[in-house]
Amino acid sequence: MSSPDWGYDGDNGPEQWGKLYPIANGNNQSPINIKTSETKHDTSLKPISVSYNPATAKEIVNVGHSFHVNFEDNDNRSVLKGGPLSGSYRLRQFHFHWGITDDYGSEHLVDGVKYSAEFHIVHWNSAKYSSFAEAASQADGLAIIGVLMKVGPANPNLQKILDALKSVKTKGKSAPFTNFDPSVLLPSSLDYWTYFGSLTHPPLHESVIWIILKESISISSDQLAQFRSLLSNVEGGKEAPIKHNNRPPQPLKGRTVKASF
Ligand SMILES: [Zn+2]
Repeated sequence: MSSPDWGYDGDNGPEQWGKLYPIANGNNQSPINIKTSETKHDTSLKPISVSYNPATAKEIVNVGHSFHVNFEDNDNRSVLKGGPLSGSYRLRQFHFHWGITDDYGSEHLVDGVKYSAEFHIVHWNSAKYSSFAEAASQADGLAIIGVLMKVGPANPNLQKILDALKSVKTKGKSAPFTNFDPSVLLPSSLDYWTYFGSLTHPPLHESVIWIILKESISISSDQLAQFRSLLSNVEGGKEAPIKHNNRPPQPLKGRTVKASF
């Protein structure tokens, strides 16, 4: 059985990704540390607007380094609009990033502060491209909402997702996951920072308009432990929990981070 060519530890961890994926050292990599004193308020930025139809939720999949909840994306039933975007971006999937302990786990940092996890809602530019796969490598192809997660009270809106993890315990497993609107996990304020960056794991395409919300949401220590209990091995293989899956912050390299507020 071959091992994946990238991961989050040692020989194939983030420091090594550049050997196989040279764009790892590119000029527009993500995540970043957002230095709030260096962000620029941009009065032309509109509020973001999400309209998700729970009927488009399709399945939950263990992808080995994380789990994805995928959506039907053959029409515009679930879209993200506004903010820094032109046109509408179609909902494709959401997933989370977490750390070995509760002390870290987010990918984006704010003024150097690490949060315990991060929620990513991934959308693609369906006005311009014909599929997620095509959009994923184009400069205006993807828009991802990032929500920082702070350890604290249990978040009841995570329960349905956590309950589904037991059916996708090992790599490659999938199960139906239906009737879910991911906007239930958004904080009350949709104020955001935005910048141009990349996917945070290989292939690391520089194709993402990032929208990072200023307000965090809560996750309990026990809920974080449930993320970490998911396995990276296939069924019957040696048990290897997905202990962490967050890339460290990358150099800003002259990019500007704009603030909506
Ligand atoms: Zn992500």
